[in-house]
Amino acid sequence: MKALVYQGPGARAWDEVADASIQQPGDAIVKVDAVTICGTDLHILKGDVPEVAQGRILGHEAVGTVTAIGSGVQRLSIGDRVLVSCITACGSCRYCRTASYGQCLGGGGWMLGHLIDGTQAEFVRVPFADYSTHKVPAGVTDEQMILLADILPTSYEVGVLNGTVRPADVVAIVGAGPIGLAAVLTSRLFSPSHIVVIDVADTRLEAARKLGADVVINSAAEDPGAVIGDLTSGLGADVTMEAVGLPQTFEEAVRLVRPGGHVANIGVHGAPATLHLEDIWMKNLTITTGLVDTYSTPSLIRLVASHQIDTSPVITHRFKLDEFETAYDVFSRASDTGALKVVLTP
Ligand SMILES: [Zn+2]
Ligand SMILES: [Zn+2]
Repeated sequence: MKALVYQGPGARAWDEVADASIQQPGDAIVKVDAVTICGTDLHILKGDVPEVAQGRILGHEAVGTVTAIGSGVQRLSIGDRVLVSCITACGSCRYCRTASYGQCLGGGGWMLGHLIDGTQAEFVRVPFADYSTHKVPAGVTDEQMILLADILPTSYEVGVLNGTVRPADVVAIVGAGPIGLAAVLTSRLFSPSHIVVIDVADTRLEAARKLGADVVINSAAEDPGAVIGDLTSGLGADVTMEAVGLPQTFEEAVRLVRPGGHVANIGVHGAPATLHLEDIWMKNLTITTGLVDTYSTPSLIRLVASHQIDTSPVITHRFKLDEFETAYDVFSRASDTGALKVVLTP
């Protein structure tokens, strides 16, 4: 079969590899019908995630069809359409028993395209398949489903729920990439009075507006603190979310929140950020960060199936699997190409 193989920092190729095969009784083999590229894959290619070995097949998001199951798989059958979640779950360890699947101690957590071969391939082996996949409801397309593998649950759990967005809140989202845009979609579920999105790329701010942002701020031209101050009698946002992963954007998210507010870090960071305790120690802030657990995925699937959430504007480019290298080029030059999420199909 063919797959997108990591060949060390800066190097990748769509290559012939050994076929995916059942290795454990809980495994399923899934034929990939739709797959995408994550910002995290770009971090891996930069060398920011050193535990990813050379020769690893990348990718942790897919929708596909089950083509084989191990002897221990109970809930899946050959032919089932499934969402392959970015988080693998053993289902029985201490963390899995409390739905904290991202912290799984039993061989799960973020495994695909990280510690084991991933989804950017014609077929993928999914361990603990009963707990690591979700059946796709009839009538829901692969494209509607694909963003539920990672960015929707990540923005919802790590941003919206950890940040405790409530009705009438002013929510400020720093960063209008795919995760920030997914945070706009999922914040709206709680009827905030204003969703404010901050970025330096006007194309991304335009996408944020289409998805439901009330106020967009290009921070290269305008001071977000002043705009949010006008909206909040000078107090600051009730909830801020960091959706970039840079020291300055984390510090901005802390600067923009009101006393008593919540700062939810969603971004993947590759360098230390400064927490200015000398300024904020008396502001009664709650600051959260985390890896997605995907406990919310079943709820999000129901919201997509019932048309309460429309993810389609987030997908900007479509390719065939054998165009994977072009897709990476387009996705990695997002500021030139306007790419948000790219979807590849056989
Ligand atoms: Zn991802
Ligand atoms: Zn577990």
